[in-house]
Amino acid sequence: MNIHDIIKKVNNREAFTQQEVVSMLEINPRSREAAVLMGESSRISRELTGNTAEVHGQFALNLAPCPVNCRFCAFAAKYGIFKEPKELTVQECTEYALGFDNSEENAAVFLMTTANYDFGKFIEISSEVRKVLRPETLMIANVGDMTPEQAKRMKDAGFNGTYHAIRMGEGDKTNAPVKNRLKTIRAFQDAGLIVGTCVEPIGPEHTNEEIAEKILLAASFDPAFSGAMRRITIPGSDLEQYGMISELRLAQIVAVTRIATPMTVLGNCTHEPNVMGAMAGANLFWAEVGGNPRDTKEKTEENRGVSVADCAKLLSEAEWQVAKHPSAYYNKTHGKLAEI
Ligand code: SF4
Repeated sequence: MNIHDIIKKVNNREAFTQQEVVSMLEINPRSREAAVLMGESSRISRELTGNTAEVHGQFALNLAPCPVNCRFCAFAAKYGIFKEPKELTVQECTEYALGFDNSEENAAVFLMTTANYDFGKFIEISSEVRKVLRPETLMIANVGDMTPEQAKRMKDAGFNGTYHAIRMGEGDKTNAPVKNRLKTIRAFQDAGLIVGTCVEPIGPEHTNEEIAEKILLAASFDPAFSGAMRRITIPGSDLEQYGMISELRLAQIVAVTRIATPMTVLGNCTHEPNVMGAMAGANLFWAEVGGNPRDTKEKTEENRGVSVADCAKLLSEAEWQVAKHPSAYYNKTHGKLAEI
């Protein structure tokens, strides 16, 4: 499939097959064709959103060794980076949440935990956070796998949506079976929680076939947003030997994800925030404070984490307007993951 066929298919709003997605990923990121892909992705993202990008802010309720042991994560118990569990107090959580909510350009507040965080405590603290947020602010959960009952309790606690992904190497490089991740996504959707997702964390060892499969799997559950994130090397981790993909290759994958994802999906994220991604059609960046699975510092704002203002600045460098209202990407009703 050449670049002209790709553009023609986009214009006709036709769905791409897995092999066609592979052929887009096979293009040399340094080529003219790759630049055209990125330009086309940018056009789609900007037209779908009126050239309005979003910044979402995330903080972690805890730092702890996590038994799911995802090989790419600083919290993996096997790496011993965070030896003792550390949990934020209600006050610390509300302060972090308000820090985001008081930023004009923050469109949603994400609460993240490791997979073994006590669910009762999570609901308790989230309910307190909800009380201090502006009523129109969207509260989003980034947590481990959940049952349908737990998903309903999250909805009752005031969550509007969740972030959940079928990660690269899921079930092999993580102790979370793909089936459980999919069941959780379905449970969230059944409970009325809108799910955002991403193809992540991508490393140089992942084949185009694996990436294409994850792009189409993400698209299949009609998320609030999809996108692509590269793996950040955790020193001493099992995956350190593979290194990292470049921002240019990531920008290409961001573009392919946008092109291969239905137009009902407005958001196209990339992480960590960078101008090249925004130029290639990424319209969602994350600001982060507190614990971060890609950082070995307890407070990521002192290391890798980027502020809301910095995210907005990076987006504006790619000539995006930045939303000053609750997320339009999460404000959707949508279809559901069909089969598990
Ligand atoms: S990515 Fe999440 S589930 Fe996996 S080890 Fe890290 S905290 Fe646990």
